[in-house]
Amino acid sequence: MKVLKLSAQGLPQSWLTLEEAVLHYAADAVRWEVGEQVAVFRGGINARTGLQSTLSISSIIGTKGVPGINPFEIKPALSNGKLFARDRNVCAYCGQHFADDHLTREHITPLAQRGADHWMNVVTACRACNHRKANRTPEQARMPLLYTPYVPTLWEDFILRNRRILADQMEFLMAHLPKTSRLNG
Ligand SMILES: [Zn+2]
Repeated sequence: MKVLKLSAQGLPQSWLTLEEAVLHYAADAVRWEVGEQVAVFRGGINARTGLQSTLSISSIIGTKGVPGINPFEIKPALSNGKLFARDRNVCAYCGQHFADDHLTREHITPLAQRGADHWMNVVTACRACNHRKANRTPEQARMPLLYTPYVPTLWEDFILRNRRILADQMEFLMAHLPKTSRLNG
């Protein structure tokens, strides 16, 4: 379980562990909270009042930091885990659904033909289809793509990065997705 850290402007910054989130509270860096309380930490007993201090952690926290990022200029790093999530674990050639360990990063224009290792040139493919297509383009292999690649937005990237997103965090991130996103629905 992770805490979604937002900038003062409400842009996603990072997924924090609970321990990291506690440090943000302790440093007085949390400016606002959204979402549910996800954990309560108990601190020391106040000698004068006899009361124990508690710190409750919210699932989404806004911080005072200046992000210095433009959400429209973000190019999320490419990883197999995020690629398979973008493509919903469906092979772009046979349309079958597979677990991660049966999937591969498939270069539409093969690397051998100077294809780029970039979101727009990669799709999820099962091992059999990747092997069959080999160093050919879809046209050369007569294996048409069943869906098209795209570059995830900042918000999509935060969904793709974390496979255990809480309901309120998902709602927050989904509210920013373009209607065309494959992550909708
Ligand atoms: Zn396949």
